Amino acid sequence: MEEKKEITPIKRMADLLMKGATLTDLSCPVCGSPLFRLQDGTLWCEKDEKKVIVVKDGEEPTKPPAASTSYNKLESILLAKIQDIQGKIEKTENVDELQKLAAALSELLNSLDKVQKMKNP
Ligand SMILES: [Zn+2]
Repeated sequence: MEEKKEITPIKRMADLLMKGATLTDLSCPVCGSPLFRLQDGTLWCEKDEKKVIVVKDGEEPTKPPAASTSYNKLESILLAKIQDIQGKIEKTENVDELQKLAAALSELLNSLDKVQKMKNP
């Protein structure tokens, strides 16, 4: 069996966001990952790669979270990941890994740029 290299969840999250999904402040009841709201209103767990139905007892989900809150949260996640990758780039001596890290870093920076533009259009 060949070892399967996983695409990092943050990259898939960034992809989702680029497709127009928004990060919510809800978390997955199964794995605890932040949930995304797709354009059709579906809540989506990117880590489990499935739809999530969140039921709040006795409360209608009438108030969507403020967009800026989601952006701030996403921004801090992206910044943390960028710092994490920077640290790994400094430490690695493996060329393959370095290329992967550099690609991930560039994606993250792109995403961060987009988030910041969405926050301050
Ligand atoms: Zn999940």
